[in-house]
Amino acid sequence: MLVVPERLIAGLMGPDEAFEAVAEVFRQTAGGAARNFPVVREALGGGRQYGFKSGMGPGALGVKAGGYFPGNAARGITNHQSVVTLFDPETGRPEAMIGGNLLTALRTAAAAAVSIDALARPGARVLGIVGAGHQAAFQLRAAARVRRFERVIAWNRTPERLAGLAAVAEELGLPFEAVPLAGMREAEVIVTITSSPAYALAAAHVSPGTHLACMGTDTIGKQEVEPALLGAARVFTDEPAQSVTLGEAQHAVAQGLLDPARIVPLGAVLTGEAPGREDPDQITLYDGTGVGLQDLAVAARVLALAKARGLAIPVEI
Ligand code: NAD
Repeated sequence: MLVVPERLIAGLMGPDEAFEAVAEVFRQTAGGAARNFPVVREALGGGRQYGFKSGMGPGALGVKAGGYFPGNAARGITNHQSVVTLFDPETGRPEAMIGGNLLTALRTAAAAAVSIDALARPGARVLGIVGAGHQAAFQLRAAARVRRFERVIAWNRTPERLAGLAAVAEELGLPFEAVPLAGMREAEVIVTITSSPAYALAAAHVSPGTHLACMGTDTIGKQEVEPALLGAARVFTDEPAQSVTLGEAQHAVAQGLLDPARIVPLGAVLTGEAPGREDPDQITLYDGTGVGLQDLAVAARVLALAKARGLAIPVEI
């Protein structure tokens, strides 16, 4: 089999390639050409999460194994740790193993950007970010590709961590301001990317017409926004089955505020089967739970690029 180590990924894939690969997955899933398998996600204690995301699409079969280990940052390593294994869909033979840490950040940010591209008001000028961990900078870079933002505002539970995000905004030429949660009322697009177990962003902090991409809740028990927001919004997701069980919608559904039948697969908007935003004052909310097919798509693209450049390392297993 071939190995593409983590250290090579940055030279092979950036936000543009990730956006294309992830948008294609949304379309394939809506058309029934690809499907995600049920996720396994287990709490290991101490905030550690471990599991498998798997699926099958045209020419792709595989699994991402790994998880979230919140103590890692203090050890100088990324909290998210994973590897993607690709198999030949015809024979089942293991084809390749690809470092999954950077790919996860790129594909998660790309999924949010696809939702912003499809659902945010075209003239949105103020981007709000809730969270300032490892993924937040990727979210900022990916969002900045799809709208002409003029300003970035951000909130984090520990404000000192916002400095890293401010540096990325400066690099992108965007004025940056740290705000209290109530300041998010100025944002026209809000990305939430935290590992919070209880919501910080309330309905009162969000203005009419805002698009929210809620990207942090990928496990039972996590929560980023007040459930009433989902009750009032038009809600979209990557995978309805995950949205109601382990995504942001889990809470609104459990409280009877959101009928699961109202959750629209984002892919159906991209293929024209379902309407997206229906009016300028509507709040749209993308519940990004993270699916295996997104991991497989970016990994397959990286593998093809690594092969073409002679960088994939053959190993015998
Ligand atoms: P990180 O550990 O680097 O950062 C965590 C962030 O959450 C920080 O901003 C921190 O201040 C904030 N936070 C933690 N506890 C909080 C609380 N109680 N209230 C408010 N904020 C709190 O994590 P990361 O790598 O940036 O990932 C962020 C989240 O995104 C994680 O939950 C991760 O599991 C999730 N994630 C989701 C997907 C997906 O596809 N949906 C993919 C990757 C990661």
